[in-house]
Amino acid sequence: MARHTGPVCKQCRREGLKLFLKGDKCYIDKCPINSRNFAPGQHGQSRKKLTEYGLQLREKQKVKRFYGISESQMAKYFHMADKMKGITGENLLTTLETRLDNVVYRMGFANSRAEARQLVVHGHFTVNGKKVDIPSYLCSNGDEIAVKAKSQENGKFKVVIENSGNTVNWVNVNQEDMKGTIVADPTREDIDLPIEEHLIVELYSK
Ligand code: SF4
Repeated sequence: MARHTGPVCKQCRREGLKLFLKGDKCYIDKCPINSRNFAPGQHGQSRKKLTEYGLQLREKQKVKRFYGISESQMAKYFHMADKMKGITGENLLTTLETRLDNVVYRMGFANSRAEARQLVVHGHFTVNGKKVDIPSYLCSNGDEIAVKAKSQENGKFKVVIENSGNTVNWVNVNQEDMKGTIVADPTREDIDLPIEEHLIVELYSK
């Protein structure tokens, strides 16, 4: 299935929680989750108790929506995580955290992952001095992610960076120079998302 392109707030309503997909708008009273916290559609208000499979499916969908990835990308990341040493569910989440669009968002250089993705696609970022315009690029410990010199003159960047802040301790951010360096691998404890990753592992292990 392709990446979701419909109304994003419906995704939050479907999952029954704020996924923070719209940046600043997610923090105001008008967020639909505040007034209509039930699934969209005709039968949205009659939410039934989920089966075991339903719970597993919802958890996978939640992760896809948080990180803005497609079904095939999710399957690819799972297989990657499964081959790594350690706990598969944690490997899955920590791998997703190192996607370039997520790192840009975590550094506070975009208001949402969707905005970070767009900025990356438009070629505003470099990794270790080289332009990278692939949102799924996996960053590594030691990588330096920076706003391209020409893009630093863009007033929008200045406003976003000044008003936000680095949200993780595994990246050292230099707001003035509009860059950051990954100083550690992200761990499960660093990921503040309400996800029960063991359910996703159970789903893919069927
Ligand atoms: Fe989700 Fe943000 Fe829309 Fe609220 S405003 S429903 S948090 S995307």
